[in-house]
Amino acid sequence: MENNEHQTIIKRALSGLSEAEFTSLTKHVGWPSFKGNQIYSWIYKKWVSSFDEMTDLNLKERQYLKENYILSPLTLSEKQLSKDKTIKYLWRMNDGNLIESVRMFMEGHDSYSACISSQAGCAIGCPFCATGTVGFKKNLNANEIVDQILGMQRDTKERISNVVFMGQGEPLLNYNEVLKAIHLVKDSVGIGARHITLSTSGIPPQIKKLADEKLQITLAVSLHAPDQKTREILVPVARKYKMDELMGSLHYYYNATKRRITIEYVMLEGINDQIDKAKQLADLIRDLHCHINLIPYNPIDSLSGVELSRSPMNKINKFKEVLEKTSRKKVTIRHERGIDINAACGQLANKVR
Ligand code: SF4
Repeated sequence: MENNEHQTIIKRALSGLSEAEFTSLTKHVGWPSFKGNQIYSWIYKKWVSSFDEMTDLNLKERQYLKENYILSPLTLSEKQLSKDKTIKYLWRMNDGNLIESVRMFMEGHDSYSACISSQAGCAIGCPFCATGTVGFKKNLNANEIVDQILGMQRDTKERISNVVFMGQGEPLLNYNEVLKAIHLVKDSVGIGARHITLSTSGIPPQIKKLADEKLQITLAVSLHAPDQKTREILVPVARKYKMDELMGSLHYYYNATKRRITIEYVMLEGINDQIDKAKQLADLIRDLHCHINLIPYNPIDSLSGVELSRSPMNKINKFKEVLEKTSRKKVTIRHERGIDINAACGQLANKVR
C-alpha cells in the first residue's frame, strides 16, 4: 500500500473564504460564477450550518460540496453560558488544536461583541494571563479567525456587531492572516472598521506597519505599567521593545489614522496600582490621544512564579481619580463579563471541563 493511502485528506473549509476566493473556486469546479455568490451568501448572510440548507443549489451540487469540502474550519467542542449572558466557546480546529472565543452582550447598546483568538496559545507569556501558561501552539489562518464570529452567529442566530482581537494570542505576531481576517470581517461579515479593535502587547515595528494600512480600526495596547522595569515583569515582550520605542509607535499610529488609542492597564495590588504609578502614567501619555481602560485583575492559576492579586476597588477608584485629574484623559474601569465561566480578560486557557 502506498504511503499516501494512509494519509487523511483534510478537506478545505469554505467558511471564511473571501468573495473572490468563492469565484475562483466555482470556476475551478466548472460552475457558473453566480453559484459562488449563492454559497457565499448562505455562509456570510444566512449563517447556515450545513450544505443541505443551501436550497438554491440542486442535490447534485450539494452532494459535490459535501464530498469535497467542509463548511467550517471549526467544530464546537464546548459551550458555557455565564449568569451575565456571556457565552464562551471552545472550538476544535481540523488539526486538533483548541481555541476559545467569547460572545458578550453589550448592555446599553443592545448588541453583541465577539472577543476572538488569533493564535492557539501565546508565546508572550504575560504572568497575569492564562493563555500565556498554555504556551504557543500555532498561528490561526484567516478562515479560522473569521469563522469564530460566523460560528457564534450560526449558533445563536443573532448578529455580532463588534469584534475585538483580544482572545488568545498576539495578533501582530500573526500579521498577514490577521490583516486578511480584518478585511473579511469588514467586507464579508459586514462589521465596520470602527467596530473592530485589535489588542496588542506592544510590538512597535508591527504597530507602525498596521498604521500604514490606514484602517479605521481601534488599536488597544496592553501597557500595564508606566515604567520599563515593571513592564518587563508584566509584559515580557517589553524586554525586547523599550518604552520609548513603544510610545513612538503609538504616536505614529495616531498620526497615520487619527484613531484614538486605548491604553489597557490591569490593576495588580502592590505592583502597578500605587498613586505614584498613576502620576507616572499620566506623564507618559500626556501628549498621546488615548483613553485608559483599567482592568480589575481576574485570578488565574499562574505558573510564572510572580505572585499576583487584584487591587481592591477603593484603590482602583483612587488610581482612576488621580490619573484622570493629572492626565485630563478619559479613564474607565472595565466592566468584567463571564468571570463565573472563566471567560473574562486573561482567563482563556482551553480548559475542557
Ligand atoms: S495577555 Fe495577550 S500577549 Fe500576554 S500572554 Fe495573554 S494572550 Fe499573550
